[in-house]
Amino acid sequence: MNINLTQKLSKPIVNKVAIIGAGLGGLATAIALKSQGIDVQVYEKAQEFRPAGTGLGLAPNGLNSLEAIAPGIVETLKSSGCEVHHTVLKNIRNETIRANQTKYLEEYGQPLLTVWWYRLQQAIASRLPSEIIHLNHRCIGFEQDENGVEIHFDGQKPVYTDLLIGADGVNSVIRETLFGESEPNYIGSMCWRAVIKYHHELFNEYELVFVKGNKQFMYILNVGDGYTSWISRKLSPDYSLSHSADEVKSRILQELADWDESFLAVVQATPAEQIWEGPICDRPPLTHWSQGRVTLLGDAAHPMAPAMGQGANTTFEDAYELGECFSHSATLQDALTSYEQSRIERTKIIQARSALGEMRYYDVNTVTSSEQTQQQQTTLPDDFNKWLYNYGSSFISSKKGCS
Ligand SMILES: Cc1cc2nc3c(=O)[nH]c(=O)nc-3n(C[C@H](O)[C@H](O)[C@H](O)COP(=O)(O)OP(=O)(O)OC[C@H]3O[C@@H](n4cnc5c(N)ncnc54)[C@H](O)[C@@H]3O)c2cc1C
Repeated sequence: MNINLTQKLSKPIVNKVAIIGAGLGGLATAIALKSQGIDVQVYEKAQEFRPAGTGLGLAPNGLNSLEAIAPGIVETLKSSGCEVHHTVLKNIRNETIRANQTKYLEEYGQPLLTVWWYRLQQAIASRLPSEIIHLNHRCIGFEQDENGVEIHFDGQKPVYTDLLIGADGVNSVIRETLFGESEPNYIGSMCWRAVIKYHHELFNEYELVFVKGNKQFMYILNVGDGYTSWISRKLSPDYSLSHSADEVKSRILQELADWDESFLAVVQATPAEQIWEGPICDRPPLTHWSQGRVTLLGDAAHPMAPAMGQGANTTFEDAYELGECFSHSATLQDALTSYEQSRIERTKIIQARSALGEMRYYDVNTVTSSEQTQQQQTTLPDDFNKWLYNYGSSFISSKKGCS
């Protein structure tokens, strides 16, 4: 590195960054950039942080990235979530088909953690000063020129910044404004999910249970502190949404009507208004994520089917890499180019695998296909697993450089 570049790197390549979205990606990115002395402000459309979402699986690649951004956070998450030791495959009669010991910690250096989305959001947000998170700011568009970006909000004053990061999820306004896409792509899978304070007699604390039915399946996760998360998805070529919370609950109970009583019981115990119902969507991969002084991150850049549980994990990878590119590049343009180079190809592969995996869940309902599903979830081909989960293993000890 020559002296001029070293001198340049001693101060940030941008002074002010605005992030749209205080989801997992926006908050993690804010920590990564703030630690470099950049003035980061986060704008979120929600009026308040409220208990939302259900159980998420955090895998070694996501944990490595998040830990590198916020040292010590993995220990916090271990105590508020659950370290999975076994995955158990059952049929709808509640017969165990197979139980596998998870080997994430031994093989990839980090465990598989199941956590409640809301607790994860709070754990990340607690690493930031609250005054940089602006709630009740729904972004409705932006304009940029070579000097900066003007961001517009519904009912709030515009904001002027050096760089805008769209971390505004699958229905990203920033992506739509940049690339003109509108509706995401429904992939043929409907989802119902909730988290409740519930002790499930069927499984041990350290187990993740997967129940395979006919074109329908259910996950039951311990997310710590007495909370259980259930997630059910069904193959549905078309989708329609229920009109009320009560209708959502009777619909999912109807879908699971011939399932064992113990699975129905967890749904019956869930207050109707806590059940989220929605379609599973993704979008085609983009060849670029940035234009000028605007870029994308997380679901805004690469929304994916949840089959591999990589939505949040790859988002933490994005946040880490974007931060690194900022600390190693001489100009904003170089940083954004390096960021795209480090991320687009990898996330494109994971997006494609996730869409394929989602449909494989619904293979014909035989024990053999159930075993294939289990196989897909827990023992993807070894080289792919290594490529996926070893990501970031060097981040924590020695920070990786950017191209
Ligand atoms: C409330 C909530 C609950 C979730 N629960 C789960 C779950 O249980 N399981 C699961 O697998 N995934 C869940 N997800 C999705 C998961 O967080 C993402 O797939 C992944 O973590 C990528 O994160 P992200 O930050 O890119 O997007 P997201 O987590 O979706 O965050 C996007 C953020 O941007 C905000 N936003 C959107 N549009 C605007 C706008 N115009 N102006 C300002 N702010 C805006 C949203 O309110 C949200 O806070 C949830 C997302 C949300 C928002």
